[in-house]
Order: sequence, then structure tokens, then C-alpha cells
Amino acid sequence: MATSKSANTYNRQNWEEADFPILCQTCLGDNPYIRMTKEKHGKECKICARPFTIFRWCPGARMRFKKTEVCQTCSKVKNICQTCLLDLEYGLPVQVRDAALKIADEMPKSDVNKEYYTQNMEREIAQTDGTVAPGELGKAKATSDMLLKLARTTPYYKRNRPHICSFWVKGECKRGEECPYRHDKPSDPDDPLSDQNIKDRFYGTNDPVADKLLKRYTSMPQLDAPEDRTISTLYVGNLGEDVTEKDLRDNFYQFGEIRSITLVTRQQCAFIQYTTRTSAEAAAEATFNKLIMKGRRLNIKWGRSQAQGQTKREGESDQAHLEPVPGLPSSLPHPEEMQNNFFNLNAPPPMLPPPPGMRPMRPPPPHPRGPPPPMRGPPGPPGMRPPPPPPGMLPMRPPPMMRPPGFMPRIPMQTVHYPSQDPTRMGATGALAPPGTTK
Ligand SMILES: [Zn+2]
Ligand SMILES: [Zn+2]
Ligand SMILES: [Zn+2]
Repeated sequence: MATSKSANTYNRQNWEEADFPILCQTCLGDNPYIRMTKEKHGKECKICARPFTIFRWCPGARMRFKKTEVCQTCSKVKNICQTCLLDLEYGLPVQVRDAALKIADEMPKSDVNKEYYTQNMEREIAQTDGTVAPGELGKAKATSDMLLKLARTTPYYKRNRPHICSFWVKGECKRGEECPYRHDKPSDPDDPLSDQNIKDRFYGTNDPVADKLLKRYTSMPQLDAPEDRTISTLYVGNLGEDVTEKDLRDNFYQFGEIRSITLVTRQQCAFIQYTTRTSAEAAAEATFNKLIMKGRRLNIKWGRSQAQGQTKREGESDQAHLEPVPGLPSSLPHPEEMQNNFFNLNAPPPMLPPPPGMRPMRPPPPHPRGPPPPMRGPPGPPGMRPPPPPPGMLPMRPPPMMRPPGFMPRIPMQTVHYPSQDPTRMGATGALAPPGTTK
């Protein structure tokens, strides 16, 4: 009797029984006291077609119920979430991750080879402690520039929202407030992101989301080092409230000796001055668009040169240099002048934000990354039908001039046209008189 696990894939002993699903933080939701239902061998895995244990749960208030879609072996082989099929470590599509780690996927797709492959992978998984992915993926662990730049920093719970109500889109939903689906504008039907195929996402081929992310990566800005070689200060923005000087030191000391760290708590930014330019360049290269601290991607820039700062200050635009008003005591010297620290012996006190060589601070400008360029997915092979919509959804075909029920054109508020209509005018009724006016 062949009862060994590898002998027969149709043997029930090969079917998966799991106690807990493999999920990413987003799919799990923000509720730490989540309740799940478990159904042993409830469905076939959408990739390997073997029965597996299905888990169902609601990932938060006003979110849609989710369930596991692929089995744990398939999830482990690719190191992905059993529900959304995104990489567990970076929250990225398989196609992006594999491109970043330069992994060539040699996974068989025909039925017989797939079974053989799955068996081998299961054997490999059984030999490890389960924390390392088997096959090519487990070996490619070098951190990639692309992964760090594209990785998600926080869970994206919006993804768990209910699907859009197809009845509402047609103006026919009668459930109103009680409708479990989302009453929202449908996404553009031409948007390639609106039809995703689970197999494509798993194997990392023709994934429209991956295409979009890879395009975003190629159009990401670069950080050019300033020509003035005396600049060895980096500006670090978007720190958040609870980042301390020690956190900064822990993350930045590895690139070279730090002369000073000036943390400006109110602006949630800091200036890190290195003793050498080479260290500053190494730090800029290693952290720009990549360093994530306490769930926030830091905004890294170069400090400005002293010469630039001075030319700016001589101009009349700077607020720090106003003409003295006669009769009043003269103005205090500019912070940069008070600080005659020619030898850079000590770090400037934290109450004086601009360290030597820096202009007075401004809040950091918005992130330079612009909206991603519009994209077009690769055309499908001729004769192929479009993939079916996700379960529970009707195919969407919104009529050209749809309008939600109860929709009323917005009537602008009545505005004051004539002095006689102005309620604050003299002679208006007491009730309408603005506060402070005498009766
Ligand atoms: Zn599977
Ligand atoms: Zn997930
Ligand atoms: Zn509805």
C-alpha cells in the first residue's frame, strides 16, 4: 500500500490541514481580536487544485469578509499571503519582487509537472523550520534597491473595503444604507488594474499592478550630490513625532563618523552632519527613498552650502533682515551670526535650528515623486476572453450617464449681490446682526 506522502498526490493524507492561515497584515485587518471560521478541505487551491483548509474572517468594521484563496504550500513556495498573493515581506506583487531579486521563475504550469514540483517543494519545506522560502526564493535574499524603494511601509486597509455595488452603479440599488456593498464610483473599466487574474499574479506574469510599480520605479527621482564639496550635511524629513536622536544615530552612524545631529522636533526633521563628504555621500545613496523608520519613509536631501545661504540673506526677501524701526531697540542678531563656532567643536544647541552651512529652515516640500505616468496594460492574446470578475461581483458596465438614486444637482448657496441683501449692513434686523454690534 502506497501511503507515504510523496507516493500519491490524490491520497487524502496529502491534503492540507492547517491551524492558522498565512496572511499579510493588510488582509488580517487592524483588529487584534479577530474571529475566524475554518473549513477543512473546503475548496481547491486556485493554483495547485488540491483541497485545502479555508479560513474566513472579517478584517475590520465595514470591511468585506475575506478568505484564503491558495493553499499553504503554494503560499510558502512564493512567500506570499494566502489571500492577496502579495509578498509577505514587502507587500509587493510576485512579478515586482522577482524582478528586483532577479529570480527566474521556473515553476511548471502543466498538471503533471505541477504535482511533481509541489511534492518536491513540500519535502523541502518539511526539512526547514518553515521560516525560509524553498527553492530559488530562499536563496535570493540580497536586499535590492528596488524592493526598498517600492515596499509598502504600512498596511493598506482600504484594500479590504467591500466591492462596489453594481446595482448602485446602475442606479438600481434599493438597499440604501443597509447595502453591504460600497456605493462608490466604479473604477475606469479600461483601467488594467480592474481585472486581475489570480494565476498571473501568482506566477508573476502580465500583472498590471506589477507593471505600474515597475514603471514607477524607473521614473523615481535621483538624489544628486551638490557640487560644493564642503557640504557634508543631510536633511532628513518626515520623521514623525516619536523619532529620537538615538534612532537617527542608530540608523546613520554606519555610513561614517557623525559630527552632529540636530533634531528639530517641531518640524519633524533633522540635520545630520558627517565629518567627511564621502560618508555623507554613502549615507545619501543608502537612504534616499529607502530608509523607513517607525513606519515612515524618510525624506532625504542634501544640506545647502554656506555661500548659497549668504547670497540669499543679502537679498531683501529674507524676513530675518528687516529695517530697524526708529525708536525701538535694535533687532537681535541672526542666529547664524550668534553662533561663532569656527571649529565646529560642539553640536549646535537644539534651540538654534540651522547648523553651520544651512539656511533657516522651511517645512519640507511635498514629496518630489509625482503621480505615476498613465499606463496601458499589455494587450491580451487575440481570441482570449477577458478574465471573469471577482466572485460576488457582476460585470460592470456603467451606463454613460448614470446618476445615483436621490442625486440632486447642487444648488449654490445664495450669495450677497446687493448691499440691501447684506445682513451685516446698518439697519439690518437685530437677529442677523453680527456679534459685537450694539443694538
Ligand atoms: Zn496550492
Ligand atoms: Zn494579503
Ligand atoms: Zn447597494
